[in-house]
Amino acid sequence: MTDPQTRAVHPPVTTPVGSRPLGVPIYQGHLFGFDAADDLAAAFQGPDEAFFYARMGNPTVRSLERALTELEGGAGTLATASGMGAVNAVLMGLLRSGDHVIAQTALYGGTYALLQDLADRWGIEVTFVSGDDPAEVRDALRPTTRLLYLETVANPTTHVTDLPAFTGAVRGTQVLTVVDNTFVPLLCKPIAHGADIVVHSTTKYLAGHGDVIGGAAVFADSAVHRRVWEHAIELGATADPFAAWLTVRGLATMPMRVARQSASALDIARRLAAHPSVTRVHYPGLDDHPQHALAQRLLPDGAGGVLAFELTGGREAGRAFSEAVELVALGPSLGAVASLVMHPASTSHRQMDAASLTAAGIAEGTVRLSIGLEHPDDLWQDITQALQKATEPRAGGSA
Ligand SMILES: *Cc1c(COP(=O)(O)O)cnc(C)c1O
Repeated sequence: MTDPQTRAVHPPVTTPVGSRPLGVPIYQGHLFGFDAADDLAAAFQGPDEAFFYARMGNPTVRSLERALTELEGGAGTLATASGMGAVNAVLMGLLRSGDHVIAQTALYGGTYALLQDLADRWGIEVTFVSGDDPAEVRDALRPTTRLLYLETVANPTTHVTDLPAFTGAVRGTQVLTVVDNTFVPLLCKPIAHGADIVVHSTTKYLAGHGDVIGGAAVFADSAVHRRVWEHAIELGATADPFAAWLTVRGLATMPMRVARQSASALDIARRLAAHPSVTRVHYPGLDDHPQHALAQRLLPDGAGGVLAFELTGGREAGRAFSEAVELVALGPSLGAVASLVMHPASTSHRQMDAASLTAAGIAEGTVRLSIGLEHPDDLWQDITQALQKATEPRAGGSA
């Protein structure tokens, strides 16, 4: 008999026999064992071989990857530790110094900072385009252009990018199109519109409950998946099994959550547009949105749960509104079951002066709302009381 000390290190590991798990199990262990050294050697060959070390692959993470591959209609997925992990894996995995990237100006702040960093320190050249005219992309093309980087719906202006027109502008070249589809999962499927890679912060709608940091890149081509996977395992940005498991769990309700959040966002956008203290509402589902016709084509089932608006009283009023809400929380995220508010000019975009804010389509008073699953009447009650506090002369103000 072996000593209890030895047995303690080798508990029986149970593999189900005669039945199978119906839900996705959490394989929290990072290591898998082999009987034959040759089998272990074969496992090193790529993402589709046997599991051996969880930075390279894990069954729980693989379940998430397979679900996202189906969701986006791709050939393979890399799940990562965060949305920025996915953006970084894609950019660093596919670019080398001297390469050129074309990107739209209205980008997630972290992506913009990463592109600046790649330009400053790694010799990658970046041309920014407005995202309104595919001819700008054709004019910016160079022999060294490798990537076109777009976002389906941009933050916080809810600018919608004409994916078919933009991917069409680089068709027949070697340029791969990357689309960050975080704001509108399922509502838009960029690969069907010609994208080569779809990036998500799964932190937002896909996990959906505000309890996960995660990301993913879905690839239309398995050879590109393979190249990025090889870089990602060097980078070490792999998804954690428990975060992947929470995300898979979130996916079950994602279609219904996103449909309801879109419907509520449209409802709130309409009510805001009719409110006397509101000067402008940015939501692609409204008739007066600059890309409303495009949104109807690209997002026929709903324009997502994020909207922005400007209120009389500008910067101070925007900031005061973000502090005056009670049901809605002031927080720098989106896509969760609970509604969130942000005042970009004083928080996420605080480094930008008035001129750069204007160039990015953001007013000093712009407020962003991420609509959750609360009843729209309760949200509206909170929003109207906050509007009143934020715009009433001084006294109540930003206290
Ligand atoms: C949040 C977000 C990211 C970054 O994702 P993290 O999970 O925070 O790393 C990237 N793109 C968009 C559009 C986002 O909203």
